Amino acid sequence: DESGAGRKSMQYGEALKKDRKVVTNESIAEIARQRRSLPVFTVRDQLLQVIRDNQVVIIVGETGSGKTTQLTQYLNEEGYGRKGMIGCTQPRRVAAVSVAKRVAEEMNVELSKQVGYAIRFEDCTSRETIIKYMTDGILLRETLSDDDLDAYSCIVMDEAHERSLNTDVLFGVLRKVLTRRRDLKVIVTSATLNADRFADFFGRAPIYNIPGRTFPVDVFYSKSTVEDYVEGAVKQVIQIHLQAPLPGDILVFMTGQEDIEVTCEIIADRMSKLEDPPPLIILPIYSQLAADLQARIFEAAPEGARKVVVATNIAETSLTVNGVSFVVDAGYCKLKTYNPRVGMDALLLCPTSRASANQRSGRAGRTGPGRAYRLFTANAMANEMLESSVPEIQRTNLSHVVLLLKSLGVRDLLEFDFMDPPPEENIVKSMHGLWMLGALDSHGNLTDLGRRMATFPLDPPLAKMLLAGEREGCSQEVATIVAMLSVPSVFFRPRDREEEADAAREKFFVPESDHLTLLHVYQRWRSAGERADWCAKHFLNARGLRRAKEVRSQLIEVMKDEKIALTTCGTDWDSVRKAVTSAYFHQAAKMKGIGEYINMRSAVVCAVHPTSSLYGAGFTPDYVVYHELIYTQKEYMSCVTVVEPHWLAEMGPMFFTLKYSGGRTLNTNPEVVNEDVSTPYEDDVSAISSLQRKLE
Ligand code: ADP
Ligand code: MG
Repeated sequence: DESGAGRKSMQYGEALKKDRKVVTNESIAEIARQRRSLPVFTVRDQLLQVIRDNQVVIIVGETGSGKTTQLTQYLNEEGYGRKGMIGCTQPRRVAAVSVAKRVAEEMNVELSKQVGYAIRFEDCTSRETIIKYMTDGILLRETLSDDDLDAYSCIVMDEAHERSLNTDVLFGVLRKVLTRRRDLKVIVTSATLNADRFADFFGRAPIYNIPGRTFPVDVFYSKSTVEDYVEGAVKQVIQIHLQAPLPGDILVFMTGQEDIEVTCEIIADRMSKLEDPPPLIILPIYSQLAADLQARIFEAAPEGARKVVVATNIAETSLTVNGVSFVVDAGYCKLKTYNPRVGMDALLLCPTSRASANQRSGRAGRTGPGRAYRLFTANAMANEMLESSVPEIQRTNLSHVVLLLKSLGVRDLLEFDFMDPPPEENIVKSMHGLWMLGALDSHGNLTDLGRRMATFPLDPPLAKMLLAGEREGCSQEVATIVAMLSVPSVFFRPRDREEEADAAREKFFVPESDHLTLLHVYQRWRSAGERADWCAKHFLNARGLRRAKEVRSQLIEVMKDEKIALTTCGTDWDSVRKAVTSAYFHQAAKMKGIGEYINMRSAVVCAVHPTSSLYGAGFTPDYVVYHELIYTQKEYMSCVTVVEPHWLAEMGPMFFTLKYSGGRTLNTNPEVVNEDVSTPYEDDVSAISSLQRKLE
């Protein structure tokens, strides 16, 4: 099966397969016993009856009751797998991979055979696959090529309470599919009790509650505001560890990767300074963590030891760590939030909601009575936190979704069944952004370019960059850059060796472009034979580079399918910068003074990020475009490329025109001026204002 997706199975899958024997110390009998002990098992037959009798069923059950791992297997045991695949969507990649692995173990089959998973840039399924775990984004993409989802007999929409953007959009898509596919079963699962919204949305579908089995959790609040939640969490963990009797593991809810790593380091450091403390196993978990390390959180701590898992909100409901008796909650999470002023998403640190805080503390009471330590005051919980968090669809950039929906043939976005429609401003901004990139015409219809852009699982500007690479004769170089931008930074900067790492990084700098610097790193790595020792010597993350190579080959596959010419520009890197410009001209900045730039759309003052190859390169280019903005003390442009002003005018004619100063010919000091951004072409204005009218 050469065309089958299984061939694409990559890093995560490989790592997991290798790990299988090591991680699983449970015997088959032990696994069978564990499966039977889950709350969902006691209601198995009733549940299957409700599913037989209804096209859509909402299932509510505590985290850890067995929804994610068991429902798919029950459906398979019931014979649904013979009629088509049993799909199960997850809002998070980590959960999709981890759960697929677990279920393969439970069924004692090799991952990617009967049980597989698919996440962006990684397909670990095969012809034999019956149970397929995937991110909600993957299933949404599949509707592009299989609009009735004929490959599936059942779809479990897991973790619906998370209200992820893609899950929300899938709800609307599935509601249509259900009217055409009477034989399709849809099961929506939620960890929280307010499932009525889902039931109503699917025409009063029945709600089935899995009887819970939880123990009381004592909750302790901080008496005063915690200034430093990392320090607060560390102290709390050490205190619990030294005072509470074993067993009983600790689960810490931190914000994101960086804070998690720091927390783990400080805990380890404090432990090393204690005299002969009881052993503590410190385990981080976040989405970008390598799969083999992720799997470790499920291993039981050895006799006489305790484990502490430091997690993002992934451990809130998506993954269940057994044996937790103590929860430490920092009270924050990172939320992707659209900033209309700059027209893009940023990850913002936000206080968690009350619903999340309660979910989090509940994790301590699964196996026995537990304790939860909240690093915020009772007053903050009562007065400052939201009841539940705002659904993603209402707070993020919708360009990608708008492009997908347009490709699915949704002509009028306002007629689409959104459970909670996104704010008008966000729809309009996203449409405007797509129009600017040339993906929509001035009537809001998809263009040919837009249709081609939609075939890539990428943010629209990155998809445009690939297509511009074809035009500029450098599609292979651009594919490398897009791949490098799609993985976490490959530059490794260990604490205590920052200077050495920075010096190593500087050796790769291409002074006019961070995008080209990424290309340069990748090419050097390839010519060095992709060696790990070479990476270590140059402070590069070998895993990240390997991952980029895999992402790149996935992109090349799509490009071949789309008949996009694979071209290379050799060392003529100007063409690459042109491709970057055609995707990011709307994120341009103009020099204002020494080291100071002004954003050409928002007029906000910004600076080149200190990690950039432009920084201190000894010249100050007049015009740059950037990949993203980072907010710290100031607004920084990160991943920056120097551009020629007439490229901006050529590729972004709706914003920029050339102004000639001091002469008549084009090459005498052309300058880019900012056109009035809010009034593009007549037709687009009318398309958007009619959209606004309909929304009112
Ligand atoms: P739910 O979806 O209702 O929250 P799950 O099906 O995810 O419940 O979990 C059921 C049980 O399976 C839990 O006890 C959990 O700890 C266990 N489990 C899930 N994934 C793994 C894994 N990768 N390794 C070991 N145990 C796991
Ligand atoms: Mg689950």
